[in-house]
This record gives sequence, structure tokens and C-alpha cells, in this order.
Amino acid sequence: MADITKSTGKKKCSFCGRTEKEVNFLITGLNGNICDSCVTQAYEITQEALGLKNVTDDKDKLDLKDLPKPIEIKKFLDQYVIGQDRAKRFLSVSVYNHYKRLLQENTGDDVEIEKSNIIIVGNTGTGKTLLARTIAKLLHVPFAIVDATVLTEAGYVGEDIESILTRLLQVADYNVKSAERGIVFIDEIDKIARKSDNPSITRDVGGEGVQQGLLKLLEGSVVLVPPQGGRKHPDQKMIPVNTKNILFICGGAFDGIEKKIAQRLNAHVVGYNASKKASRIERNNLMQYIEPQDLKAFGLIPEIIGRLPVLTYLDPLDRTALRAILVQPKNSIIKQYIKLFEMDGITLTFEDEVYEYIVDKAIEFKLGARGLRSIVEDIMMDEMFELPSKKVKEYHVTLAFSKSQLEKVNVSKLQNS
Ligand code: ADP
Repeated sequence: MADITKSTGKKKCSFCGRTEKEVNFLITGLNGNICDSCVTQAYEITQEALGLKNVTDDKDKLDLKDLPKPIEIKKFLDQYVIGQDRAKRFLSVSVYNHYKRLLQENTGDDVEIEKSNIIIVGNTGTGKTLLARTIAKLLHVPFAIVDATVLTEAGYVGEDIESILTRLLQVADYNVKSAERGIVFIDEIDKIARKSDNPSITRDVGGEGVQQGLLKLLEGSVVLVPPQGGRKHPDQKMIPVNTKNILFICGGAFDGIEKKIAQRLNAHVVGYNASKKASRIERNNLMQYIEPQDLKAFGLIPEIIGRLPVLTYLDPLDRTALRAILVQPKNSIIKQYIKLFEMDGITLTFEDEVYEYIVDKAIEFKLGARGLRSIVEDIMMDEMFELPSKKVKEYHVTLAFSKSQLEKVNVSKLQNS
């Protein structure tokens, strides 16, 4: 075994190639090193080889009886995510079916359950990532969230498509078998749409080439994954991963797709019976009419769309939803602030009108749910600075105080700009 310590100057695991910094523990031998996860894996392999451990151990851990049913999964999501019922139902069913597929695998059953990757379309800040993060909390398989914006075709600056699976491998502690049964959430999938409308782009670096690469992963094939992600380089050892059983959930804002939906709907409603149909269309939430052909019009290649058979959408957040997001979820922003003050022995309360005011401002600034936190932050900053040093037991946030705090912040922001 070559001494990789010498060639790179950095100590690396001779099996997975990760550096000392990237692992918990590195054992040094005569001509090489081994990290803690490779030790565990090597132990498991020897156990299996010696017939001391059943290869299907991992699978046996999944028992349909013990797994949360779709209704239970949705109930769990309800605690953290406001609204978005339809997307929650789709997600719950997909995850549950994913478990079923894993259980049915290699049982010799004639009816092979095919996987149903999902695509969730919704404006930015409506809860796509939150849904993904929340579902991750109760999953029984490895789960990774990756961002499609960094992906580029081989040969360009950026990350190789296969690096999507690096994250999953890391979450699975480099246990390939376990990663091969995992779920990957690919955020911002819309950023790899073909930009053919723009003639100035001669090379579609992040477009069709990346989609073709992604297709390979979605279809199910054995891909070589760089253990540390990023770009592949020649002397790096690749880890083969079979994506056949990996469930892919994609999310994207698809900015401007409403226009494509409207065009399609308009084309349909022209003519006989048109006015009747048109009146039934809710113009302020066109996303609910989304269909696969709209994704194609946006720039996703049909093959990719075909591999994402479950298409669902997130609703735009209205006043009521924003108000609920502020106070209702298990870890809502207001609950977090109450907790922060409680740790200093201060009971924090808010005048009801403050919530309405925060929602108004979030709408006014066009910040959606993302803006709620920064508005609360602006209102509370001075008190968070001062109160811990004062002997205060209670603090009540009034509307007048909130208004004056926000105005103060806005004035100073204007002065600085
Ligand atoms: P997206 O991924 O759709 O752009 P995020 O999931 O990152 O949006 O949402 C941004 C923030 O807004 C979240 O951290 C969360 O606090 C809040 N948020 C958005 N949508 C919801 C929702 N439906 N329920 C609760 N909180 C939400």
C-alpha cells in the first residue's frame, strides 16, 4: 500500500481517502492509515465473510409494523410546517412506499414496485427545505439535502453530478449498502433548467448536460462517487454506488413558471365554453394547475420529468399562513424568542397586534416567511442586548415599541446605504 502521507503531506485514510480532519479518528499503520468508519466497515465485512452476520441485517431493521404510516408522517410534519397539505400527503406516501419497496426487494416477488421520485414546485420561502428537513427527523434511512446550483457538467468549474451522492455517503457513515437505500433531497432543481431562450449563452454549462448526468442517477445505475465530493481527480479512489433504490425528492421555485401555466391554460380555454372555464381558474394561485408539460416549457428535459413521476406544488403563503408560521409551529420564531428570554429568567409576552404588524411588514417588504425572522430580530435586538444584565422578570412587547424599533433600524439602514 503506498504511503499517501508522503505524497500529499497530509495524513489520509488509505481506504476512503478522507483526511485526518474529516474523520473522528485515524489509526496509523506501517504503510498506511485507517479511519474509524473504515474500521467499522471492515469489521462488518469480516463478520459477513466469516458467516457470523447476516448480510440482510440492515433490511431486517425495517419492519412495516413499526414504521410510521402516511397519516402519522403527515401529523409529524403538521407540527412544524404550516399548510401545504397536498405536498405533505404526497411526501408521506412517497416515503412510506419507499420503505415498502426496500422491504420487497430481493424477495422474489413478481410484482416489482418501481420507485416514485418526487418533484415539489413552490415559490421561494414557502417551505420546501423545511419540509425536507422535517421529514429527515423521522426517517429510518439515510437522508441528505443537496443543492443543484453548484452542479456543472464535467470539465467546467463546479461540482460533478456524482457529488450529490457524496453527502448521502457521509450521512450513512460511508456505509454504501445503507446509502443505497437512502433518500436525497435535491434543492433548486430549477437552476439546471435549459436556458435555450437566451441566445447569448453559447455553452449551457449548467443546463442540459447536467440534466443528462442527473438522469443517470434518477434512472438507477452504478455511479462512481468521489468520497470527498467536489471534482473528481485521477488519483482519488471512487466509491461505486447503485442508485436503483435511492429515492430522489427534488424541489425548485421555478420562477416565472406561472406564466407558462397561464399560457397553457389560456390556450385551452379559448373557444367554446371558454368563459365558463376561465372563471373557474384562480388567477392568484396558478401553481395549483401545474402539469409536467409546464416543467418542459421551463427547460427540464422530458426524460428527467419522466423520472419524477410525482409532481406536487406548494401554495403561496397568505396573511393567515404567515401569522400561523410566526406562532404555531413547534419551534416557531416567537416560541424560540420566548425560550431565549426564559433562559435569562424573563417571561416574554407579546401584544396581539405585534403579530399582525410583523406579518404586515413581511408582506410589505415582499420577504414572505423568510422575512419574519429578520423583522422579529430587528424589533428585539436592543432588548436582547440589555435585558440579560437587568433584574427584569417579565417583558411585554407592545405595538408602539415594535414600530419604533423597526423605524429606528430602517432609518439607520437608509443612512448606511
Ligand atoms: P424554500 O425552501 O421553499 O425556499 P424554506 O423551507 O427554506 O423555503 O423556508 C424559509 C423559512 O420560512 C423556513 O425556515 C421557515 O421558518 C419559514 N417557512 C416557510 N414556509 C413555512 C411553512 N409552510 N410553515 C412553517 N414555516 C415556514
